[in-house]
Amino acid sequence: MQSKMFARILINPKTSILQKLQPRYYSAGGEVDLVVIGSGPGGYVAAIKAAQLGMNTVCVEKNDTLGGTCLNVGCIPSKALLNNSHYYHMAHSGDMKARGIDVEGVKLNLETMMGTKSAAVKALTGGIVHLFKSNKVALKNGHGKITGPNTVTVLKPDGSSEEVKTKNILIATGSEVTPFPGIEVDEETIVSSTGALSLKKVPNKMIVIGAGVIGLELGSVWGRLGAEVTAIEYMNAIGGMGIDAEVAKQFQRILAKQGMQFKLGTKVTGASKSGDNITVTIENVKDPTKKEELSCDALLVCVGRRPYTQNLGLEEIGIERDEKGRVPVNSRFQTVVPNIFAIGDCIHGPMLAHKAEDEGIVCVEGIAGGPCHIDYNCVPSVIYTHPEVGWVGRTEEDLKSDGIEYKVGKFPFAANSRAKTNNETDGFVKVLGDKLTDKVLGVHIIGPAAGELINEAVLAMEYGASCEDVARTCHAHPTCSEALREANLAAYFGKAINFG
Ligand SMILES: Cc1cc2nc3c(=O)[nH]c(=O)nc-3n(C[C@H](O)[C@H](O)[C@H](O)COP(=O)(O)OP(=O)(O)OC[C@H]3O[C@@H](n4cnc5c(N)ncnc54)[C@H](O)[C@@H]3O)c2cc1C
Repeated sequence: MQSKMFARILINPKTSILQKLQPRYYSAGGEVDLVVIGSGPGGYVAAIKAAQLGMNTVCVEKNDTLGGTCLNVGCIPSKALLNNSHYYHMAHSGDMKARGIDVEGVKLNLETMMGTKSAAVKALTGGIVHLFKSNKVALKNGHGKITGPNTVTVLKPDGSSEEVKTKNILIATGSEVTPFPGIEVDEETIVSSTGALSLKKVPNKMIVIGAGVIGLELGSVWGRLGAEVTAIEYMNAIGGMGIDAEVAKQFQRILAKQGMQFKLGTKVTGASKSGDNITVTIENVKDPTKKEELSCDALLVCVGRRPYTQNLGLEEIGIERDEKGRVPVNSRFQTVVPNIFAIGDCIHGPMLAHKAEDEGIVCVEGIAGGPCHIDYNCVPSVIYTHPEVGWVGRTEEDLKSDGIEYKVGKFPFAANSRAKTNNETDGFVKVLGDKLTDKVLGVHIIGPAAGELINEAVLAMEYGASCEDVARTCHAHPTCSEALREANLAAYFGKAINFG
């Protein structure tokens, strides 16, 4: 809490060294203040912030469109498909009929659905071009390579190159899909997340390797559109890193009810394609003699992402990557070369767009002389399935292993008036509070709009709120956020009002 307030006082534009200076244009040949390599959510946000703080800023992007993974092949297109496939499913599955809305002859027009996805991507990536112009960030299209501590060479698509001299360099080159050894992705029927966002037809059977966030989101999309989806997961739980075990179990039950099948504790050992058929071989992790062959017409390989730092010139400048290929940085995002910084997916921490954005902002504020602080415990995670899953802070498993005494407050959406009114009662809110101080330590939500509700929990935790603080905060009625209030009430007082 202290650090947030401290940071706010120093960054107040009226009082601090980070005063708003007039943005300046980059003049060819001169030395600029900052070159940002990469225009993903980390890089483009950092570039705009730097320009707003008066730095002469250049952003180098190798792709034709701005916005990186997030806007082009990540957050935005996946959420467009999640949203619209949900509407289709509601109309097609009889959910709308049950609400008194008779819709006859519901048909999927996949081309139009893909078109709305592309339109959202185009509008948002184009929006960054506009923001760069209005904030006077100079954009250079080409592959950025660090060729000296104060030089970035832009290798342009036409084969020419240009050197940009700069005081500081910010690496925001992001990540790429991790390949699965022995399985060749063709982005047609054996696809990564990128291909799964643009399948030309709905598969009959889809196998998803990896029941983490992206696998479950994209598996849900194609399941709702009619595919029979089976997710194979090495671990014994779904939802990936950091999810609370109780939430993961409930989540699996709900997705199974929706038709998704799971094979947990199971390892994929290979896949082969013959005509339209793909055969996937699997074995039990604990007992490798238990082997099976599955067939499908679409295979989604979703086993994670790895930092992307190809041909960046890191080794030549003396920056060694760690064992996971990440760029090591200190708490001010400085590499071993003090005027070269790195943020986002290519450094440590969760690979999330909002984490990259926050790092971009505090990093450039740091370059401008301000403080640098991010509380990684307050970075939320969301899975945008239906219902959504959102969490922040510690899980029960974390607290147990750290020997921290905690209390639990839970509230089911089945007892929340808004959720009940909307017939969206699957799930619950679970609040973990410190047994001695009542401080909120973690919040885990599975239910309607969990991705929105979790932000209230983040705010509470950022400012060191207690469960009682949240429970005594007036919440509008009827809203799903009242479930969060009630769970906090249950955590601090032992009882909620509307349940138990
Ligand atoms: C299917 C999918 C769904 C996702 N959904 C979510 C979500 O809902 N919420 C969320 O928070 N996160 C989500 N993510 C993760 C999110 O997209 C990333 O965490 C985020 O994009 C990382 O931002 P970044 O700026 O670090 O890197 P990136 O977005 O990867 O951007 C890096 C940019 O740098 C450019 N670049 C790389 N090297 C060079 C070079 N040498 N010269 C010039 N340019 C270069 C690349 O072309 C790219 O444009 C999703 C990811 C995927 C794949």
